Amino acid sequence: MAVNKEFDIVIVGGGLVGSAFAADVLIHSPNTRVLIIEAKKPEFIENPPLDSKIYAVSPKNFEQFTKIGVFPDLSRVGKIEKMKVFGDTNGSIDFDSGGTYDVYLARLVEYTNLQKAILDKLEEYPNLEMCYGQIATIDNQISQVHVVMADKSIYTGSLLVAADGGNSFVRKVVGFNSQQIDYEQSGVVANFSCEKNHANTAYQWFLGDSILAFLPLAENKISIVWSTSNPKSLLDLSCDGFVSVVEAASQNKLGKLKLITEPQAFPLKLNLIEKCYKDRVILIGDAFHTIHPLAGQGVNLGFGDAWELSALMAQVGISQLSQADLARYNYDRLFEVRKMQLTCHSLQRLFNNRSLVANYARNFGLNLVNSIKPLKKILINNAINY
Ligand SMILES: Cc1cc2nc3c(=O)[nH]c(=O)nc-3n(C[C@H](O)[C@H](O)[C@H](O)COP(=O)(O)OP(=O)(O)OC[C@H]3O[C@@H](n4cnc5c(N)ncnc54)[C@H](O)[C@@H]3O)c2cc1C
Repeated sequence: MAVNKEFDIVIVGGGLVGSAFAADVLIHSPNTRVLIIEAKKPEFIENPPLDSKIYAVSPKNFEQFTKIGVFPDLSRVGKIEKMKVFGDTNGSIDFDSGGTYDVYLARLVEYTNLQKAILDKLEEYPNLEMCYGQIATIDNQISQVHVVMADKSIYTGSLLVAADGGNSFVRKVVGFNSQQIDYEQSGVVANFSCEKNHANTAYQWFLGDSILAFLPLAENKISIVWSTSNPKSLLDLSCDGFVSVVEAASQNKLGKLKLITEPQAFPLKLNLIEKCYKDRVILIGDAFHTIHPLAGQGVNLGFGDAWELSALMAQVGISQLSQADLARYNYDRLFEVRKMQLTCHSLQRLFNNRSLVANYARNFGLNLVNSIKPLKKILINNAINY
């Protein structure tokens, strides 16, 4: 039955970023009336098999979840204590968290594990509502936003926060200017158990025309992300064929591998937006920016948007949030977002370039950075504080 309801904030997209934003808002102001509109109702089962979507979450963001009472099942969470990166000839660099940098570089969390923990937290708030359905259209006015659903229900918010992902419907309907660069690559993801102990070490190989990453999970399993321009050549392989090419590309670093989740491919795009707000609509997460996954920072940037926007709302008040406040928020976030987008984009371009000069530069560069300890410390501090 169609309904007509008012909220302080309507969030479109209940993925990790949208739901984390809701949880943080409600910690600051528990009486805020929040609606999350999500296209797909998640289904959780007891002891689920390993999720294929696994994210490296920075210590800063992981700790923020603890602060707001979001506790994923730690027995399923991996951690990176060391990282080794190999160039395509003789370059290499290694990072470790030992001593100086707390105890880990990142936590590796399954999407469903973190999503369930956030949704469990949200259940504590009676003024938080979930709506699973399809949006027909959005009317963005100067002082409020109306969301018209396919079933003719109308939800009005003082603000609409769009966290509906890289192909954001809200971004298109509301008419944000965005520029997309297609990497013409996909990230092929899969999980394995391995023969040798991964010792909480992440590995990354820049292979010339592709990038392969091994991320250490709990119980001596790994998740891989293989960014390649020819995902079909991997997906069309038999299970044994796929395992063999992964073992060969990783120089059998972790011995014999056993595939535990079907490989899946995600197309990779760089999404650039100069202004993330328009009247009462604000974009966060992948709706605002996408990034190459080689540094595993996409969702971390999205969490940064969520915490900062929520802090601003707590400081100013939701209905008082002015265009000047949003301009300041946009400026601050864009600085962080562009820094990371540019770093990942440049690395992707440098390592995807077949010229001899680029080959020399990237491998020399890796060895050079590896030999400058203070620079490595800065890079590590940057990564863990994202
Ligand atoms: C191969 C690969 C590996 C990655 N690895 C990492 C990593 O290790 N670390 C990291 O930080 N990042 C990683 N990323 C990036 C990460 O996946 C994204 O940055 C992150 O998922 C963005 O979260 P989000 O909540 O903004 O969007 P999404 O995860 O896309 O969620 C959007 C939500 O909105 C819903 N939705 C969509 N349209 C509508 C609509 N019209 N109405 C209602 N709801 C809607 C969707 O159902 C979904 O629940 C990786 C990306 C790829 C492709």
